[in-house]
Amino acid sequence: MKAMVLNAVSRLEDNPTPLSCVDMPVPVPAEGEILVRISACGVCHTELDEIEGRTPPAKFPIVPGHQAVGRVKGFGEGCCRFEAGDRVGVAWIFDACGRCEYCLAGEENLCGSFRATGRDANGGYAEYMTVPEAFAFPIPGAFTDSEAAPLLCAGAIGYRSLRLANLKNGRNLGLTGFGASAHLVLKMARFVYPDARFFVFARSEKERAFAVELGAEWAGDTTDASPEKLHAVIDTTPVWRPVVEAMKNLAPGGRLVINAIRKEDSDKACLAEMSYPEHLWMEKELKSVANVARRDVGEFLALAARIPIKPEFQEYPLEAANNALSEMKARKIRGAKVLRIG
Ligand SMILES: [Zn+2]
Ligand SMILES: [Zn+2]
Repeated sequence: MKAMVLNAVSRLEDNPTPLSCVDMPVPVPAEGEILVRISACGVCHTELDEIEGRTPPAKFPIVPGHQAVGRVKGFGEGCCRFEAGDRVGVAWIFDACGRCEYCLAGEENLCGSFRATGRDANGGYAEYMTVPEAFAFPIPGAFTDSEAAPLLCAGAIGYRSLRLANLKNGRNLGLTGFGASAHLVLKMARFVYPDARFFVFARSEKERAFAVELGAEWAGDTTDASPEKLHAVIDTTPVWRPVVEAMKNLAPGGRLVINAIRKEDSDKACLAEMSYPEHLWMEKELKSVANVARRDVGEFLALAARIPIKPEFQEYPLEAANNALSEMKARKIRGAKVLRIG
């Protein structure tokens, strides 16, 4: 089969074609695994983190890609969940131990043996992949393959951050940072909490105007005070200043959720400005989001079909994965990028 593989970590500036197109054997599903013929795979920013070594792969060569959609083509021993031809998706969570306290509580995203698709196991930049059947997701009929692929990462993680925000209908939610993942969170939050009010913090005038268009009550700069106290805030920025500022806007008992794999160190010094009475007193909480559990992916796909949420996307052939990654890094085009395979 044809696959795009990564053989070593490098910086995209030094090596604009980090992935090579190779011919490799179709993988054989192990016990409990299914073989999937992939038709579409989303391209994610986390792939840049893998390629450039910020979250390096566990082995080389590795096939990246953790937003894969395809059809079930084969079965390892003991499989019973799907039939041949069923359409399934594979997300960031590839598998986990299934026995630890986190796995038993449905929090397998926190498992010490958590493995990520396309980083710790071969992913979707290929014609075929295998995945444990317990970690594959049926795709709702509302979506085409290419529409479903980008939902499998940012949407599912956004859904988890909204869940962790612990909001109640009628209360106030703040969003600091207003890029693609925050748009998704706002759309789903309006649907799940129809009487909640939304306050958006963004640096650009254009993003603030778009937030109001999408139903925000108020939009201001990341350093502004919100006109009302907020019961929860979700941060999707890569830096610290918006977190420090937003903690001041939290209502007593409020929670701020950081939705980022890594934070930049450039403005870390502003954390020293945190004052206990102003930022944390009155039982305010600060929490991060790590990975996704199966529940998040499954519930989000069902919710996205009901709302509906359909992403804007641009398609590339599998062999053009390097171009898609370069254009993503240069932020040339808005919307998701999807590799079409076969
Ligand atoms: Zn576990
Ligand atoms: Zn991703």
